[in-house]
Amino acid sequence: MKLSRILSNHNGVSRKQANASIAAGKVMVDDAVCREAACEVDRFSTVTCHGRVFQAAEPAHYLMLHKPPGYLSATEDKVHKTVMALIDPGLHKNLHIAGRLDRASTGLLILTNDGTWSRRLTEPQIRVPKVYRVTTASTITPETAERFAEGIWFEFEQLRTSPARLELLGAQTARVTIYEGRYHQVKRMFHAVGNRITTLHRESMGNIHLDDSLTSGAYRRLTKMEISSF
Ligand code: URA
Repeated sequence: MKLSRILSNHNGVSRKQANASIAAGKVMVDDAVCREAACEVDRFSTVTCHGRVFQAAEPAHYLMLHKPPGYLSATEDKVHKTVMALIDPGLHKNLHIAGRLDRASTGLLILTNDGTWSRRLTEPQIRVPKVYRVTTASTITPETAERFAEGIWFEFEQLRTSPARLELLGAQTARVTIYEGRYHQVKRMFHAVGNRITTLHRESMGNIHLDDSLTSGAYRRLTKMEISSF
């Protein structure tokens, strides 16, 4: 919201008074004076005017969860248990998932209450690499890597997936890197080449790697470096 609006949303403060206080250098956003009435301020900043608090900062949360199988990547569901059951209820407000995993899938799941940040992670145009380790029902053929690199045609969406990388780790295991996050994408890519995924584990999203020290079901806060990598 614009800084002038945050001030003038309060009873008895006109837009004109708000602008005058801002121009006079009486308005602080966090620890700095802000003289820009049009400055966009999110809800994670504190705004004061003449020392009075007009907006108290909401704490921002950025979490990495080692998702176990059997939990739905959703904030609520009538039938299945969701990953929220694994997170301290004190952190639930506005928490959402940045890039879901299927119920049976495991590995890195990122949760945050900062929608601007999570969009940077999930928007297909930004092409954040997502790395998965998979096991399959049948042997992975040498053509699979070529087909993934060419892109797989998805009939339902009428589109070709962008080039993906497949690194063979064994006859039925591989590491797959994709740059989008379409519905059941990796499963559908294997299905398109006549194979079937039996396990799927997300290792990383961009520069955020699942922390080895997190046991299945455990989570931790992201570090400043991890947060600023997007
Ligand atoms: N692709 C899938 O098919 N499933 C996931 O959980 C993530 C990516």
